[in-house]
Amino acid sequence: MGELPTRIVTDSMIGLAMPDIATWSARVVVVLGQNPGPFTGPGTNTYLIGTGRRPLLLDTGQGLPQYLPLLERAVRDQRAAEGLQAIVLTHGHADHMGGVESVQRRFGPLTVSKKPWEKLDGGLEVVAVDDGSEIRTEGATLRGIWTPGHAWDHLCWYMPEEKALFTGDVVLGAGTTVIPHDGDLGDYLHSLRRLLELDVAVIYPAHGPAIHQPREKIEAYLAHRALRDQQILAGLRSGVRTTTELVKHMYTDVPEFLHAAAAMSVNAHLRKLVRDGVVERDGDEWSAR
Ligand SMILES: [Zn+2]
Repeated sequence: MGELPTRIVTDSMIGLAMPDIATWSARVVVVLGQNPGPFTGPGTNTYLIGTGRRPLLLDTGQGLPQYLPLLERAVRDQRAAEGLQAIVLTHGHADHMGGVESVQRRFGPLTVSKKPWEKLDGGLEVVAVDDGSEIRTEGATLRGIWTPGHAWDHLCWYMPEEKALFTGDVVLGAGTTVIPHDGDLGDYLHSLRRLLELDVAVIYPAHGPAIHQPREKIEAYLAHRALRDQQILAGLRSGVRTTTELVKHMYTDVPEFLHAAAAMSVNAHLRKLVRDGVVERDGDEWSAR
C-alpha cells in the first residue's frame, strides 16, 4: 500500500460549543436550533436579520420545542422586535426547514422564501426565490446565490451592508460539508469557486462560529477536496478497490461511527472522478484508469 498524502482540513464539529443566543453584528443575531449532533455540531444556526421591529428569520432549525422560547427571547430582548417579517431558507434539509411550522404557529402565517424543490418541500407552500433574488428588511438586504452541490435547492444569501455571506451548509464554521447521495461534488466545487468571486468580509455559516477569513476558508475547502481526489487515486493505484477499504485507509484519525459519513464523501469523490474520466467503476469496485 503506498503512502497517502496527509489531510488538510482536520478540525471537527464534535464538541464545539456555542451560546444559545448571540449578537454577531448590528444586523445579525444568531439563535441555536437546539439540535446538536455529530453532523450539526452545536446545532443549526438560525439568524434574525435586520435592524427593524420585524426582522427576517433565516432558517428555522429542526422544529424542536426547546428552540421556540429562545427565538421569542431573542426577538424581544436582542432586537426589541414585535415579531418576524418573513422566513427565508437556505435549503430544504430537515435541520433548516423543520421548524417552519412551529415558528408560523407562534409568529403568524409568515411567508417562506426558498428555491423550490419538490423532493424536499413536501406540501410546504413557498415563495419561489432563486439566484439573484433580493429580499429586503429594515437595515438589510439579502441577495440569493444559487449554490448547488450539498443540496440542489441551496441558496447562499449575501448581505451587502456588511459584505456578509450566509453560507448555509456550503461553508461551515468547523469541519467540512457532507455531499449526500443526491448531492453533486462537481456542482459543489463550482459553487465554492463562485463564492470566491464575491467581495466577502465575513461568513455566517449554518453550523459553527462566524468565519472572519472567508477567502482562506473557501480556498482551504477547495484544497481539501483536491487532496481527497489525490488520496483516492493514490489508494486505487496501490490496489484498494472498494469504498470501505478506501475509508479505512484515508480516515485513520476519524472514529468508526463516522465511517458511514466518510463513505458518503468518498463515494461523492468517486462519482466525480468517474465523470472526470480518471476512474472506472465495476459494481462495488473502483479502479484508476
Ligand atoms: Zn443541509
